[in-house]
Amino acid sequence: MAHVPELFASNVFNETVMKDKLPKPVYKSLLKTKQLGIALDPDAAEVIASAMKEWAVEKGATHYTHWFHPMTGLSAEKHDSFISPTPDGKVIMEFSGKELVKGEPDASSFPSGGLRATFEARGYTAWDPTSPAFIKDNTLYIPTAFCSYTGEILDKKTPLLRSMDVISEQALRILRLFGNTTATRVTTTVGPEQEYFLVDKKLYDQRKDLIFTGRTLFGAKAPKGQELEDHYFGNIKTRVQEYMKDLDEELWKLGILAKTEHNEVAPAQHELAPIFTTSNVAADHNALTMELMKKIALKHGLVCLLHEKPFAGVNGSGKHNNWSISTNDGQNLLDPGSNPTENIQFLTFLVAVIKAVHENSDLLRLSVASAGNDHRLGANEAPPAVVSMFVGDELQAILDGLESGNMITKNAKQEFVIAVDALLNFPKDTTDRNRTSPFAFTGNKFEFRMLGSADSIACTNTILNTIVANTLKEFADKLEGSSDFSADLNKLLKDTYIEHKAIIFNGNGYDDAWIAEAAKRGLPNYATTVDAIPHYTDAKNVEMFEKFGVYTKAELESRTEILLENYYKVLNIEALTMVDMSRKQIIPAGIRFAKALTDTVASKKAAGVDAEIELALANKVSGLTKSIFEATDKIDELLVEAGGLTDVLTTAKFFRNSVFTAMQTLRAFADELETVTPEDIWPMPTYSDLLFSV
Ligand code: ADP
Ligand code: MG
Repeated sequence: MAHVPELFASNVFNETVMKDKLPKPVYKSLLKTKQLGIALDPDAAEVIASAMKEWAVEKGATHYTHWFHPMTGLSAEKHDSFISPTPDGKVIMEFSGKELVKGEPDASSFPSGGLRATFEARGYTAWDPTSPAFIKDNTLYIPTAFCSYTGEILDKKTPLLRSMDVISEQALRILRLFGNTTATRVTTTVGPEQEYFLVDKKLYDQRKDLIFTGRTLFGAKAPKGQELEDHYFGNIKTRVQEYMKDLDEELWKLGILAKTEHNEVAPAQHELAPIFTTSNVAADHNALTMELMKKIALKHGLVCLLHEKPFAGVNGSGKHNNWSISTNDGQNLLDPGSNPTENIQFLTFLVAVIKAVHENSDLLRLSVASAGNDHRLGANEAPPAVVSMFVGDELQAILDGLESGNMITKNAKQEFVIAVDALLNFPKDTTDRNRTSPFAFTGNKFEFRMLGSADSIACTNTILNTIVANTLKEFADKLEGSSDFSADLNKLLKDTYIEHKAIIFNGNGYDDAWIAEAAKRGLPNYATTVDAIPHYTDAKNVEMFEKFGVYTKAELESRTEILLENYYKVLNIEALTMVDMSRKQIIPAGIRFAKALTDTVASKKAAGVDAEIELALANKVSGLTKSIFEATDKIDELLVEAGGLTDVLTTAKFFRNSVFTAMQTLRAFADELETVTPEDIWPMPTYSDLLFSV
């Protein structure tokens, strides 16, 4: 391996390359766009395009693509080569400013949620100069936003960029009130920790459910699960280590700050955490990371499962969204500093986040809603479906002080003492680590833990940025005209905290008692996607998003429709896959086994030997096979019924209430049959095979 520092970002058109390849004024103009989010001088595009092409061709690139993030949840790309014919029958490599700035993919093949019916099929991709272009597979990738011909957004990047502008503007208003004159841009930063499973490709290929749906639809529990807690941070097997090394290298080439790789709680489960970066770049990087995780696994004879719940009975996979706000004059606005009691600016931002989360927990909940994530949330492993906040003892004491008017003076930092002479003592972290809280303060950032492993982080961060901007705006509106800033601020923080402290819960979020308590506090508990998603278009939410120009009402309606449609389409594929596996693999296995047993019974009886056990087992197997047969037919019937439904929400509800229940019934019978069937008759690799083979 080349030295990591040389390898790092070697395939990225980053600031070093830009500085080297671009005329100084153009470089400066692009840098300003990147750092301050202000529009680029149009003339600069031509120069940048030509420099990008020259750099990319030097690195062996032959093609370029506008890379975008439609509502499918996957990234999309359409490759064009750089070639342009010359009169002498040859070609030269060309790339114009126009080609850099704008692309025209056909929008009609991407989900638009009703926007398409009324608008033209044509769509545009528009270059996002704030996220660096990069080279992958001999292609120059240009990050872009994607919208319809009439300007409605059809992607996940555009609203995120809008929300970043919005929070910057409002946070700057607050900073000015505190006398800050130097910051000119406030940026939200994100470090997403990504969980995933690795399974052997040869076994994966024998499981239609994994191939079609990314999760196991059948499978009895293995004798061993995660109960010994021996996998978390356990030593990494050689094959996995080689995979992680390869993955790190490829990610580093793309300038992705892959930092931590470790085993997770469940067998075969792992995690990758990057060092945080600007939200928009983090979203692009996370999309690339997921793509490369899957691709590189194949090279190692492995398959990377990003599904939120590939296996029943062991932990599922999430994505922890570590989020903070910082200024371009070097402050992390969520850093309490050494004396948080006196850090009234920090408390202002903290209280703003508390209010934002309390008022908009519906939006945070729906931002993580999907068929896959429904298996996790509330299922005693991930955070519950109720959003609450953890602030920890130290901040709680400060907030209590704010409420009572007796601000405590902070104790000196505690030292952590290990009573072994040879070991150095070190200062204790001021926040403990409550792993059960959906939204936890972790030292100098918040960690939102409800995201599913397969999801884009864009939607969650769009919402997070907008709801906090909304509160900051309210604060700024109240305080800007104030004649006694200090007194008015104090009162505002105190009143706001008292009004919204119901969102704070520092206890065990997995406890049933908490769910009951949360209901008393009036915190919403949307158990499934179908309950959560429709709140996108609640009046309060439409009003807020329109006020900031993040989403129009039509865009919110379109997103609601796309997400609900996606939900039931996923369930439909799962149901069809179950029917297929049941009829072609499981029922025939049951019949085969029953026949083997009755053959034995017949021959034993003929020989005058007792065949009681074989007979009992044959009856059990026949009974289960019959139940499987009936449960399969039931799913079939329900799918026919679903086909007759027209309204999106009705259909989604029908899938959740009827189809999903029928799927669980079928699975229960099939899993029971698996437990009594010999390995050589069971038609697919088992949980033991899948979870313990790598
Ligand atoms: P844990 O697994 O204990 O939650 P890690 O240290 O593995 O913690 O992950 C913490 C994540 O938080 C990393 O991705 C890190 O880069 C990110 N992070 C740290 N500081 C910030 C910040 N100011 N803004 C956003 N993310 C941050
Ligand atoms: Mg974490």
